[in-house]
Amino acid sequence: MSKSPCCASFLNRLSCQPDRLPRLTLSVRQPYALPVPLETDMMLRALDLARQAGALGEVPVGAVIYRSADGAILAEGFNRREIDNDPIAHAEIAAIAAAAKSLGDWRLNDCTLVVTLEPCAMCAGAIVNARVGRLIYGASDPKAGACGSLMRLTEDPRLNHRVIPEAGLMAAECGDVLREFFRKLRKPGA
Ligand code: ZN
Repeated sequence: MSKSPCCASFLNRLSCQPDRLPRLTLSVRQPYALPVPLETDMMLRALDLARQAGALGEVPVGAVIYRSADGAILAEGFNRREIDNDPIAHAEIAAIAAAAKSLGDWRLNDCTLVVTLEPCAMCAGAIVNARVGRLIYGASDPKAGACGSLMRLTEDPRLNHRVIPEAGLMAAECGDVLREFFRKLRKPGA
């Protein structure tokens, strides 16, 4: 579409007189006032849980399960493998068990699981068995991830429930928490 002569001359005048351009005023009083998408908000909570785990000497992974329809949080969990001496005490397993208890139903079709790290094969199996409706994770796990890295367990068409993971939400932040934890662990005297 070509510009009308009137419009063109107006633009010409503006470009010749930059001081005439309308000034944009940005408020700096509330820099974080923009609404945060629900998924990001949930990942921020999961990151908090991961940091709690890290403070206890656990590999920092956190998970949140919320009702997809209204965002009501049903359960939270973080990795407690060392504290509990329990090889299955991953963040996702704890959150899935607590969410099912809270709902009074083991079927989590109407729920979203948000976790800071790509689920392993055990947790991916639990996600399928619990029929989790939506799965969002942050950092990929090239050594043990079963939702895109080593395999795509939750997408296997032979299983009676499938969920396509949404990977990479705040992946940098989620990865940083893990990297920082292992960096401190390697530091002599830490
Ligand atoms: Zn796991």
